[in-house]
Amino acid sequence: MTCDTHDDERPLADESAVVVGAGLGGLSAACHLADRGADVEVIERNSRVGGVANRIETGGFRFDTGPSWYLMPETFERFFDAFDRSPEDYYDLTRLDPQYRLFWRDGDRADVPADLDAVRDLFESYEDGAAEALDDYLASAAEAYEVGTERFVYEDRSRLRDLVDVDVVRSARGLSLLGTMDDHVAGFFDSPKLRQIVQYSLVFLGGAPHNTPALYSLMSYVDLELGVYYPEGGMYSVVEGVAALATELGAAVSTGETVVGLDHGPTVETDRRTLAPDRVVCNANPAHVERDLLPPEGRRYGDDYWDSRTYAPSAFLLYLGVEGSVDPLAHHSLVLPEDWGPHFASIFDDPAWPDTPSYYVNVPSATDETVAPDGCETVVVLVPVAPGLDDDAARRAAFRDQILDDLECHTGVDLRGRIVVERQASVSTFADRFALPEGTALGLAHTLRQTGPLRPSRRGGIDGLYYTGAFTGPGIGVPMALLSGEQTADAVVEDAGGSRLPRVARSLAAAAPFDGGFRP
Ligand SMILES: Cc1cc2nc3c(=O)[nH]c(=O)nc-3n(C[C@H](O)[C@H](O)[C@H](O)COP(=O)(O)OP(=O)(O)OC[C@H]3O[C@@H](n4cnc5c(N)ncnc54)[C@H](O)[C@@H]3O)c2cc1C
Repeated sequence: MTCDTHDDERPLADESAVVVGAGLGGLSAACHLADRGADVEVIERNSRVGGVANRIETGGFRFDTGPSWYLMPETFERFFDAFDRSPEDYYDLTRLDPQYRLFWRDGDRADVPADLDAVRDLFESYEDGAAEALDDYLASAAEAYEVGTERFVYEDRSRLRDLVDVDVVRSARGLSLLGTMDDHVAGFFDSPKLRQIVQYSLVFLGGAPHNTPALYSLMSYVDLELGVYYPEGGMYSVVEGVAALATELGAAVSTGETVVGLDHGPTVETDRRTLAPDRVVCNANPAHVERDLLPPEGRRYGDDYWDSRTYAPSAFLLYLGVEGSVDPLAHHSLVLPEDWGPHFASIFDDPAWPDTPSYYVNVPSATDETVAPDGCETVVVLVPVAPGLDDDAARRAAFRDQILDDLECHTGVDLRGRIVVERQASVSTFADRFALPEGTALGLAHTLRQTGPLRPSRRGGIDGLYYTGAFTGPGIGVPMALLSGEQTADAVVEDAGGSRLPRVARSLAAAAPFDGGFRP
């Protein structure tokens, strides 16, 4: 059946689309596709939407299971603005100050404030001339942000030339953005602690200073200049907002349903039914889709490709509901050894559980009293670890004790004896719950070979198949997942406009009716 109702604003008016996976990339794609007229259904294998950006609620505590740093607020504004909404229609934001607190193992402690002048003072207190060096560093980070966002974030450029162009641009100024972060930062600061402050955020991108291009110094612009925010209720408030928007726009969301096969047509086979939409957008990661769901001739990349990728770290996470105060832990705290090289080596070079870990502690109840009962605190500890590690129960128990000892030793906060709720996540959680290869928590690291046009393609190996989410461009992170959904919807529209296929009737074999909302 062909329909004539599509117009410039609703170019997908006679198309149906199935989105496989309700992570933020999938939910964003669902919003954009539905807004452009498509009849959209999202199918998620877990019982809650959000993917790795999820929530545990128990005993009056509320834990964000994954992301907790709300960065790049303008990307959220851009997302909601595309639908004539704003983030405030769904959640309230607070700018954090201090943005985060650092605890070093030598007993030193520092707050990174929201005010840039105060950050300059902090830098100068560690190294003579570092305030001025910070100005220079941030000027270059701002340029990297401009280049990076223009070429790889807001625009979906798939030509290798765009990556090379960057090098040309920067070489003219004597600085290559394609060199390593390690080398780049060494040109500005001698103090190892200052180098850590401007590099810790690389972990957000799943990389390390030695394997991440200096282009990503843009992250310093993101956290030191644009600021760190907190959505009331936690990051899951963002997921709830995006999911509510998808439903408002007409997308249906089915949870607790797993896609078990994809084929030409395209057809989608779930553990309940078979569907034949016009388009399939996979938010399920392409490694899982190619290896487990598609027929061999429908794959775009071989096993060699997936085996040779640099996967971002997995994570060992403790979700702890704690009685009493956890002062001096701040909303965001980092506990760092002065030399974090061995920890990065244990992730990327010689996979092992780290002896001297760097880790992150999130205490959202420091800002938001709705996430913990009276007199209690919500504490999440996140230790980046190598993907693929064996994490049997004994290993996890031993590592948990190591981390609690370490936390007491380096922050003075002893949690034992007052933990009233405890949950864990580790390598196998990411592999089993989210089908992430080797249990990576984040996807593909942003190494040079996996940046911009070198990330996996947005278009799949069979007609009508697309990808969205952190494995594709622009990459890892909540803002990027939202943008990825937009860019994938753009690709669908482009293909629909270019060579419009006759509409394939939806196969109703064993199909449950679309109910326009959430299904258990
Ligand atoms: C511990 C942790 C901390 C993080 N911290 C931050 C942070 O502070 N700030 C930030 O911006 N970002 C952070 N991130 C990164 C950010 O959360 C992710 O990049 C982003 O949420 C990824 O979204 P996605 O849609 O690409 O993928 P996912 O969330 O992985 O979604 C994919 C979905 O597909 C589903 N799926 C897979 N296979 C199937 C199938 N066969 N059938 C049906 N469904 C399927 C999965 O269940 C999942 O729901 C963090 C991530 C983690 C894990």
